[in-house]
Amino acid sequence: MSDPFINMYSDTVTRPTPEMRQAIAEAECGDDMSGDDPTVNRLEAMVAERLEKEAAVFACSGTQSNQMGVRTHCQPGDELLIADTGHIANFEAGGPAVLSGVTCRLLPGENGMIDVDDLEGKLRADNQHLCRTRLVCVENTTNAGGGRPWSLDQLDRVGQWAHENGLKTHVDGARLFNACVAGGYTAAEATRHYDTVSICFSKGLGCPMGSILVGSAEDMAAARRSRKLFGGALRQAGIVAAAAVYALDHHVDRMADDHANARAFAEALAEHDGIRIDPEDVESNLVFFEIDPEIGDATQLATKALEMGVKVGASGAHRLRACTHLDVDREQVLEAAAIIGRCVEAGVGDLVGSATGPYSRG
Ligand SMILES: *Cc1c(COP(=O)(O)O)cnc(C)c1O
Repeated sequence: MSDPFINMYSDTVTRPTPEMRQAIAEAECGDDMSGDDPTVNRLEAMVAERLEKEAAVFACSGTQSNQMGVRTHCQPGDELLIADTGHIANFEAGGPAVLSGVTCRLLPGENGMIDVDDLEGKLRADNQHLCRTRLVCVENTTNAGGGRPWSLDQLDRVGQWAHENGLKTHVDGARLFNACVAGGYTAAEATRHYDTVSICFSKGLGCPMGSILVGSAEDMAAARRSRKLFGGALRQAGIVAAAAVYALDHHVDRMADDHANARAFAEALAEHDGIRIDPEDVESNLVFFEIDPEIGDATQLATKALEMGVKVGASGAHRLRACTHLDVDREQVLEAAAIIGRCVEAGVGDLVGSATGPYSRG
């Protein structure tokens, strides 16, 4: 049941391993909406303990758990502050506005990360004309910002500044464990100044689905209500929670291999004329690279590469993204780089059509 191509489109493309399927098959289940699913309860307790927070709520997707976080902290008419590449603001179908009546104020960050300098002066005064600045959201690792892990210092600085200024803090940690492995810190350290944290199980952790929101008992009670409102309250969800428990035990440390494979892939791509990438910029499992415009555009290259057996995504006019994950090994990523190199050298500018839709975001 493998893909007919080397699939580096996203880290969401992984299939559950035989061992994970075994854990799923053996999962004890109950009605989670009544609090009676022992596997979901175990997962929530496990993640809360790991992040040194009081409680957690299992969710269907990272979009859902992020939006539960936004709604927990904000009232209609409030504003959140976020880097301009942030997933919450750009790639969640307008969720803050639709689901919570919240506006997003986008700050130009560096590689998807903001610092105290970017935040200073952005806190709006208490005045009837203005929306209330309420929440700071950070993303770790950054996705569209380049797959960067934050430094612990910067995380601490931003979180502390927000709290000193009366704001709430939320981490979009879709790839939090990639950040921990790359950044050399624990998940508890990375989130110690943040009120809520969303983590995806369906990305680098390799689960078929699921995310979790973590925070105080009071905030998680509110988030549980939002989860119900958003249509995400679940029944025998132990089936999927079991995969997440398995992944937390077995798929975190191995992310170092994905990061090494991403770097090796980047180094191989950098060998080819017409491809622009600095392998030093590749710090986790996401690899962004650009092609010279005379070669063609990113969608054309993605289409050609797919024909040749490699799936990557266009993420801008001439920018592409490739991901490493537990379903691609070193040999495959090097083969993928060689194929992409051949496509670039042949040129793709005469192609029409799109293999991968507009721009990939997952
Ligand atoms: C993938 C992702 C999410 C969540 O996306 P879902 O597809 O809803 O699981 C959130 N934030 C970031 C940065 C992501 O990459």
